[in-house]
Amino acid sequence: MDFDLFVIGGGSAGVRCARISAGYGARVGIAEERHWGGTCVNIGCVPKKLLVQAGEYGGWADDAAGFGWTITKGEHDWGKLIAAKDREITRLEGIYRKLLSGAGATVFDGRAVFIDDHTVEVAGKRVTAEKIVIATGGYPERPPVPGAELGIVSDDAFFLKAMPRHVVMVGSGYIAVEFAGIFAALGAEVHLVYRQPLPLRGFDQDIRESMEEALRAQGIILHPGTTPAKVEADGDRRILTLGDGTTIATDLVFFATGRRANVAGLGLEKIGVELNAKNAVKVDEHLRTTVPHIYAMGDVTDRVNLTPVATAEGHALADTLFGGNPRSVNLRNVPSAVFTTPPLASVGLTEEEAAALGPVDIYLTRFTPMRHNLSGRGRKTTMKLVVDKGTQKVVGAHMLGEDAAEIIQGIAIAVIMGATKADFDRTIGIHPTAAEEFVTLRTRTRTTDLAKAAQ
Ligand code: NDP
Repeated sequence: MDFDLFVIGGGSAGVRCARISAGYGARVGIAEERHWGGTCVNIGCVPKKLLVQAGEYGGWADDAAGFGWTITKGEHDWGKLIAAKDREITRLEGIYRKLLSGAGATVFDGRAVFIDDHTVEVAGKRVTAEKIVIATGGYPERPPVPGAELGIVSDDAFFLKAMPRHVVMVGSGYIAVEFAGIFAALGAEVHLVYRQPLPLRGFDQDIRESMEEALRAQGIILHPGTTPAKVEADGDRRILTLGDGTTIATDLVFFATGRRANVAGLGLEKIGVELNAKNAVKVDEHLRTTVPHIYAMGDVTDRVNLTPVATAEGHALADTLFGGNPRSVNLRNVPSAVFTTPPLASVGLTEEEAAALGPVDIYLTRFTPMRHNLSGRGRKTTMKLVVDKGTQKVVGAHMLGEDAAEIIQGIAIAVIMGATKADFDRTIGIHPTAAEEFVTLRTRTRTTDLAKAAQ
């Protein structure tokens, strides 16, 4: 065999797995057909966060007047932002590639496809490997409506030549609400078209309600309970027709309607790697596919599609295969954030999920952060703890408000350690912060018991 391990896909999962395995002395090859670092670094989390930050500066410039500053904001220069973003992403992509060669992995620029279960073809070469990892990620999917190709998806959004003045976002998952916030903060009129009554299905109900209010407060025009029916072109303009027949004329229709596993054309069927009902690679808890020496991880398995999960899986697999430390990643209590303005972050169970298991005490607070009493921006923060009534363990923590992602990351450690409400209560706050509210929630808002109600 040419390699002990061959990794298909140089994204978060693949790069980590290849780098750590090579560090253990394994002979490692890795192929990437598009850009090193994958979706997150190039067309996902990282450039998205830079665009979110660009929008935040505009808000701060407006807020400054309340603190005595006279600031003339002027026009935003989209071209300058995208050029700066591109320079940063090029730098990061270079670092990813260097990390791999520095660790001793052999890097292939090209698409790898299976020839047989120990052989892949990449960049015109056939290479063999003892073990192979599929880490090819996912891609954004358009809904099956006529004219969908006239709309863009997140892959395209980072390379728009000009900032659209009018945008219709379709969907209300992570990507839809994040980009709605970005375009609104940069000055566009934004419509959000979604089929649920509230955005962000799957998140806690109180937080979803607060998100709806936050989106409205940003001036985003909400169309709940609606679906896209067709898209038509009128020169450079786009006409989106909704299910009820109404139309919206816009510069840009942006479909953020979910992602699919990147499995097409890899040759999986001929080697016996099976897919699951979501058309993603089927794996067990040790990331093994239905072929014993072939593994898969990250978004191509479509379980918890988050970069830190992918990197954790890549590391765990390298430790297991070559580090003498067999382990798997626990996918319970994975914290995550949605980088809206302000952001949302959460860890653990929602009130609805927890209450289905047994009675829960809910502690909920909503307040205007100190800064906005002066800025006059009318922004609110919502914080919520979900506490198991029997054990008094904090089983969920949710926040929508400034710095939510930074705050919940720390709270997640406590939740994973099994901290109780009493542990939160005996923690002294840092004053004056928003975070201190999490340790000063004295009054129970309600007790919820869906399990009992369902009996
Ligand atoms: P999500 O799965 O989060 O959301 C998809 C959205 O599209 C939902 O609102 C869904 O509605 C809607 N939808 C799906 N099909 C249709 C249709 N045919 N017609 C109308 N609406 C439709 O996908 P995203 O694309 O937002 O993100 C993909 C994944 O990427 C996320 O789940 C997350 O794992 C990851 N991600 C994480 C981020 C972060 O951590 N900050 C940022 C961006 C992405 P409904 O709810 O009714 O099904």
